[in-house]
Amino acid sequence: MYDIIIIGAGPAGLTAAIYAVRAGMNIAVFEKIGVGGQLILTESVENYPGFPMISGPDLMDKFEKHAAKFGVEIAYEEVKAIKSKGKAHVVVTDEGEHETICVIVASGSQPRRLGAEGEKKFTGKGVSYCAVCDGPFFKNKEVVVFGGGDAAIKESIYLTQIVKKVTVVHRRDKLRAEKLLQKQAFENSKIDFIWDHVVDRIDGRDKLEGVTIKNTKNPDQKKKLPVEGIFVYIGHLPNTAFINVDKTSGGLIVTASCLLETSIPGIYAAGDCRDTCLRQIATCVGDGALAAYSAGEYVERFKSGHL
Ligand SMILES: Cc1cc2nc3c(=O)[nH]c(=O)nc-3n(C[C@H](O)[C@H](O)[C@H](O)COP(=O)(O)OP(=O)(O)OC[C@H]3O[C@@H](n4cnc5c(N)ncnc54)[C@H](O)[C@@H]3O)c2cc1C
Repeated sequence: MYDIIIIGAGPAGLTAAIYAVRAGMNIAVFEKIGVGGQLILTESVENYPGFPMISGPDLMDKFEKHAAKFGVEIAYEEVKAIKSKGKAHVVVTDEGEHETICVIVASGSQPRRLGAEGEKKFTGKGVSYCAVCDGPFFKNKEVVVFGGGDAAIKESIYLTQIVKKVTVVHRRDKLRAEKLLQKQAFENSKIDFIWDHVVDRIDGRDKLEGVTIKNTKNPDQKKKLPVEGIFVYIGHLPNTAFINVDKTSGGLIVTASCLLETSIPGIYAAGDCRDTCLRQIATCVGDGALAAYSAGEYVERFKSGHL
């Protein structure tokens, strides 16, 4: 039986792994696609301390090598379910069943995509899902933000500190965002709105040239916006379908604020998959360390019969 099974080899999972092995835990890390998580989607990271400029894949390569130095091995298995077994757990993957005292869920989340032609090609090269991360690459440029909820409007306001102009494209004729945010956005001279429009396609051959949008009431009515950046805030899809713990209506795992324990004792959540207010490498690293610490305490109590 393992002490701790970690699900996901992104920043949160690899940090948890480093902390757990250094605390003497017998661990396994299961990853379904490849080491690095969402960071493989970006060519430039500028806000992770110690690395003023590094590509996402290069940074995650360093995380992986760091973990490997302490003996962390990554098993390429997709977790399908977690079952309880007394005060321990069984992690079910596409390869088999693995018993463990604790589980750390670090399975991340993925931004909901527009689903438009050209989106995949230009992700990390003009199309972004993260204004805090990528906004500075669009200094004094014109960008489009898709969305009308809190995140879209909050990030649009943030972007006005950096870019020349933000055009918010929303599929309805009014915003969903909270009233105060709406007021701030409407009063901001750098933000324009285009109502009742959705993406048609993202334009560009080798380089992003703009985006074509269409009217929701008359889809033949299209217009091209010649922007250099496109930010997408139409929701997040957490990778949490395999686990039955308390979640928000959007599927984010609810954790106790300090220890990051979920509603099932011995199961912890770290990083983007949990209900948190900032999704960044730095916060995921903090979560990974804290979840490993909390899980380690649980393992000690389990082994000493104090649960
Ligand atoms: C384009 C882009 C640019 C970004 N730029 C920055 C930046 O510059 N700075 C910054 O701080 N943040 C940035 N971010 C945000 C940052 O990438 C995330 O906050 C961070 O990656 C989340 O880490 P995580 O470990 O929680 O999850 P993830 O990175 O999502 O990793 C989760 C891992 O779990 C795996 N997994 C999921 N489900 C299962 C399963 N069932 N079984 C096994 N494995 C599973 C996934 O394959 C994935 O590898 C960016 C995000 C994007 C999309």
